[in-house]
Amino acid sequence: MFGVLLPLILVVAAVAALGATGRLEFAHVQVAGQPAAILGEVPGPDAGAACALDAWYVDEPPEGLRPDVLGAWQRLRAEAGEQGVRLCVQDGKRSTGQQQREFTEAVRLFGTPELAGIYVLPPEKSMHVKGIAVDVQPAASAAWVERNGHALGWCRSHQDEYRHFEYDPAYATSGCPAPLPVATGLSEVPGPETGPVCPLDKRYVDEEPQGPRPDVLDGWKRLRAKAEAQGVRLCVQDSKRSVAQQQREFTEAVRRFGTPELAARYVLPPEKSMHVKGIAVDIQPTASAAWVEGNGRAVGWCRRYENEYWHFEYDPAYETGGCPAMLPSATGS
Ligand SMILES: [Zn+2]
Repeated sequence: MFGVLLPLILVVAAVAALGATGRLEFAHVQVAGQPAAILGEVPGPDAGAACALDAWYVDEPPEGLRPDVLGAWQRLRAEAGEQGVRLCVQDGKRSTGQQQREFTEAVRLFGTPELAGIYVLPPEKSMHVKGIAVDVQPAASAAWVERNGHALGWCRSHQDEYRHFEYDPAYATSGCPAPLPVATGLSEVPGPETGPVCPLDKRYVDEEPQGPRPDVLDGWKRLRAKAEAQGVRLCVQDSKRSVAQQQREFTEAVRRFGTPELAARYVLPPEKSMHVKGIAVDIQPTASAAWVEGNGRAVGWCRRYENEYWHFEYDPAYETGGCPAMLPSATGS
């Protein structure tokens, strides 16, 4: 009976998948001794052991990847190991169901599918569901993959995701394609308008850091945990802003100072603000900001401007490469 039933199930499942995606772009995963499975339905691990390099991350077993991708992953990890580099798998395979749960949670957090789609892809678009993507942590290990992965078919595919790599055997011969730009629409994500009073100094507030890029939010949590471990409290005076929020501040500055040129000395227009891009946090009071200036680099946070002791920007490259030279001001004047 199963001789008839199994092919029938596969045909029904394939037609269902075709209806959802418009094309048959997956392979059935054939594992010896196990029934064939539709790749999109193959789950990955929900978690993993702590990453030996940095317990902030996990190191999942790379289960569920397409078999050729798994082989390529093992080659990459072996090559890294030979050079003394350990790679932790923060996330690898996800099933449609796993991705849908993450997407639904993001819609709940951000309000609409359009906003949620900036942070989490719906299942039909996720390369993790297709089983060809791996997120590598910590930052130094991801940087190693970016430099060395293409020879084995692994490339970074997005400018705003230093950790996310996709496999294609063609990359080994033709090199990596240009990374896609940052997710469009991030600049429309607002941050909080204000927050509760900073308990250290009532002139400031302590906003919830909502709306930054997920890796920046992750970096922020690490910074705050590091500060707390040393008995230092950080208040967030300002973090994410949308284009509209930044434009209101800029328009108000133009009204006060008379011209856009004069206003731009004090408030950046939206297209130039790192708060709109979601990579900046303003920290108060002065002593807390000074602590970040002394200790933030180790987790990717650097002060960037001589005239803004409170303004810090996140880039995982700072962890390994150190902070860039400070600029006189954000406005260049
Ligand atoms: Zn700032």
